[in-house]
This record gives sequence, structure tokens and C-alpha cells, in this order.
Amino acid sequence: MNTATINPGQNQPPGQDQPMDLRRTKLPAAPPELVAYCRQLDDWVNTRTGVPEAQVAPPAPAVSEAIRQLGNSGSLEEMGLVEFDLLTLATNLRQVCDLFREHFPDDPLTPALAAAPALADLPASDPVHDWFAGAAPGKGKPGETRTAVQALTATMQQWAYERELDEHTLLQLLHWAAAPFRRRAAHRYREDLAGLITNERGHCPICRREPDLAELSSTEHGRRYLLCLPCDLRWHFKRMGCPHCGNVDFDRLGYLLVGNDQAYKIYHCEECKGYLKTIDRRDDNAPLNSPSLLLENAKTCFLDLLAVEQGYQPTPEKPREQSTL
Ligand SMILES: [Zn+2]
Ligand SMILES: [Zn+2]
Repeated sequence: MNTATINPGQNQPPGQDQPMDLRRTKLPAAPPELVAYCRQLDDWVNTRTGVPEAQVAPPAPAVSEAIRQLGNSGSLEEMGLVEFDLLTLATNLRQVCDLFREHFPDDPLTPALAAAPALADLPASDPVHDWFAGAAPGKGKPGETRTAVQALTATMQQWAYERELDEHTLLQLLHWAAAPFRRRAAHRYREDLAGLITNERGHCPICRREPDLAELSSTEHGRRYLLCLPCDLRWHFKRMGCPHCGNVDFDRLGYLLVGNDQAYKIYHCEECKGYLKTIDRRDDNAPLNSPSLLLENAKTCFLDLLAVEQGYQPTPEKPREQSTL
């Protein structure tokens, strides 16, 4: 396990030969427009998810057993246990796209996500219309059944590819649009999910995305949890090992510290070049808990920039899924 310390601004000449000034190693504040966007997105997803119904019939024993069998692979969504209403999903996506456009007017994606005159009608001029028109759940490669979101992922990737736009940012919008459905599933199956043994699971049990963040618990001797922000779910993962590729070779794993700050660490893997931003809640400077993980993620965005600057990726490159349209 390798550790290293990096200092924001260290790569900017001149000054490389000057002694490290610890006062300058504090992370810069996050851009206000990013914080404002995440604040609104947080409010939006909470409102769209709604208050969980108090009286929900418990899952059938066969479903609970099937979830237990999931182990470290698969997801509730692939099992068909996340109930999507496609028209609501389309409306959600339009609203998340509008939120993005409002906060990032200069982003190259913004003009491409031009406003639709009516949300519910989804006119043919609206890109959301195109994505949904080409995305029939169940239609995929031979022998493969795609979920609604997997189908949309393929059409949206293709759309971004043809326009040379950033597909990662675009797909994040899709995952937020899907978040209210997934959060309701998280609530519905919370007891089954709590019983799932996940210490080898590098992706979310609900949506199968790779984690956005990790945290080391302050009360369980630094037990590590991985977090999926759109699903608002955390699951236990073994302390050593890369969740992206499964590498357990300690010599090819490490973490970076920023200045003398032990509260936030960037765990990285030399096998896949992936990284995972981690909040060490055992440290006095780390908040004991985060009222909004989405905001905490935004406020520590400079750690992501530093990790990328060091050559690491939040989700290491995997072959792009080809559209089957
Ligand atoms: Zn998830
Ligand atoms: Zn790895």
C-alpha cells in the first residue's frame, strides 16, 4: 500500500523548489455554480422521490430469497425490482436536463439539450424524445434483456458520440432522472439489502453503477462503505482491494493525501488506474455524517481534479457499449 501527499497548485511554476507551505494545502472552495446545482438537484430528487409509504406490503419470501442470492453480482434493477414508469422517467430527464442547462449555460452539452416547449408531450425536436424512441426495454443483443435504463444508456451514448459531447456528464443526468425510482426500491427492499453480504461487491446493488464515494466509519474501526449517490445507498466493502477491477495486490494499491489533511483520501489502483474519493470519518476534520452526500461530493470536487491530474479515473475505461440500433 503506497501513500503520497500532493499539494494543490504544486504543479504550477514557479515555486516547485520552495518549501511546502501547509497553509496553502487547504482545498480551494468548490465553484459556487456547482454547489448551487447540487443543492437544487438534491431538493429535486427528494421531492420527486416523495415520502415513502408507511404501509408497503413486505416483499414475497421468494423475492427476498432471490435478493439474498444476488451476492456480489447483479442488481435489483436487472431483477426487475425497480419499477419505472417511462413517461415519468422522460419527464424527470427533461427536468434534470433543464436544471443542468440553467446552471451551466457555457457547457458544450447545454445548447444540445435545448429546451422543449412542453414537458409531457416530448415533441420530436426534443433530444429526450429521440432517446426514448430508440430505447425499447428488452431490445438488445441476442440473448440479452436490457432494462429501460440500459436501453436509454445505449441510445444516449450514441447520441453523445455522434455530437462529440461528454457522455459521462450526459449519463449522470440519466442516473439522476432514474434516482427517484431507485430510491423507492431502496426503501421497499431495505431489509433484504441490509442482509446482503457485499464485501466483494464493487458496484451498487440497486443500479449496478460503480460507487461515487467511499467512507471509513468512525464507529466500526474504519469499516469501509461504498456509496451510490443517486440511489442514496451505502454498502460494506472489504478494506483492501480495488472496487473497480478487484485488484488486491497491495503493491499496486495506494492512497493520496492532500497536504496534511487526513479527512479525505484518494484511494487509487495502479492496475486499472481507477480512484475512489474517500471520507475518513475517524478524522476530527471530517464531518461525523453528511446531511447531503451530494453536496459533500460537490464541495470536495477539487480532489477529483487532483486525482485526474495524477492520471486516475473515477470509472476506469471499459469498452463503450455499442448501440444496437
Ligand atoms: Zn445505485
Ligand atoms: Zn483497479
